[in-house]
Amino acid sequence: MSEEANPFESLQEQIDDAAGHLDVRDDVIERLKHPERVLELNLSVDMDDGRVERFEAFRSQFNGDRGPYKGGIRYHPNVSRDEVKALSGWMVYKCAVVDIPYGGGKGGIVIDPTEYSESELERITRSFAEELRPIIGEDEDIPAPDVNTGQREMNWIKDTYETLEHTTEPGVVTGKALSSGGSEGRVEATGRSTMLAAREAFDYLDIEMEDATVAVQGYGNAGSIAAYLLEELGANVVAVSDSSGGIYAEGGLDARGAKQFKAETGSVVGYDEGQEELTNEELLTLDVDLLVPAALENAIDGELAADVQADVVVEAANGPLTPDADDVLTDRDVTVVPDILANAGGVTVSYFEWVQNRQRFSWTEERVNDELERVVTDAFDTLVDAYETHDLPNFRTAAYVVAIRRVADAYAESGNWP
Ligand code: GLU
Repeated sequence: MSEEANPFESLQEQIDDAAGHLDVRDDVIERLKHPERVLELNLSVDMDDGRVERFEAFRSQFNGDRGPYKGGIRYHPNVSRDEVKALSGWMVYKCAVVDIPYGGGKGGIVIDPTEYSESELERITRSFAEELRPIIGEDEDIPAPDVNTGQREMNWIKDTYETLEHTTEPGVVTGKALSSGGSEGRVEATGRSTMLAAREAFDYLDIEMEDATVAVQGYGNAGSIAAYLLEELGANVVAVSDSSGGIYAEGGLDARGAKQFKAETGSVVGYDEGQEELTNEELLTLDVDLLVPAALENAIDGELAADVQADVVVEAANGPLTPDADDVLTDRDVTVVPDILANAGGVTVSYFEWVQNRQRFSWTEERVNDELERVVTDAFDTLVDAYETHDLPNFRTAAYVVAIRRVADAYAESGNWP
């Protein structure tokens, strides 16, 4: 196995690749490769047994040229300054490619949340929110869920912020529970855009979705929901996995059943007797029509990419392919629908949640899903148009060409001040 790619360097390489196809000044590209600022924190939090534990935490505000910084908060032992910087940059280009009025940010705490009680997690989250308070706000920087965070953490952040500010400002954070100002359709949104992106790609490539075989790596919020929505389109989900391993069933498995099983037991492994078990690496190299990496960065490097047998890869995770993997798959004519389009449903419905919060008005689930479908299909069409018109090597470069153009235009129109 080659040395793990640094996600921040991967982001910069992706920007450089697209810059070669754009007439944007070098100094502007340089600006778009670095975060505007990164807050680094050490949280001291009371534990249940009376000890005080220190937690490293970050918030990176990458670029605000198109609107408030926007992006999730991740709880994971591998969170690092460079990872958060990369993830915040991907948010900038994600928001630009689907054309919603946000910049990009990201935060994280270095923690394995499974090792802490709910009350400890609440104190850790509120401590982080208290530190973030001066730099977040519905017009400044708007956190959201990411790996290992969800409605519960967002509700705590909202409550901490509102209590300290003596106000009601539900739009300070998105991905909240419905009763705390969340939106219909937000939980499903990342999986839904993954499904929509796959549907559009299959349509473009003239491949039938009916009975298409699908493998999904990572069975959290994005992967599990993408799996059952693809199943609803007629696809046949044959393999799924999580950090404990994977399962394979030649005739297809029940994606909702596997999700339920994981919720009860903590893993998909062991679901439905008689199915074969397989490793994540074996899953990623299965001979399927569609591969959906839905876990973490660097799932597929250049070496593994040589063995990928899927015809289409749709990235539900952020940064699952290293730049080397991208080169290999491009050479091998494997179509990759990039993360910044495929998983943009999450932030798009976050935007709808924020709009509803500001209007103090709620949309129906049907309206949310219809608007999301319009955003994703329009973005896909724009990307295909750039890919064909400029004869670009792959869809990722096309997505960055569209997105960088939009951010660079907003920057040029505002002027460089002060
Ligand atoms: N964490 C999600 C992402 O990576 C959602 C971000 C948001 O809703 O702001 O896109």
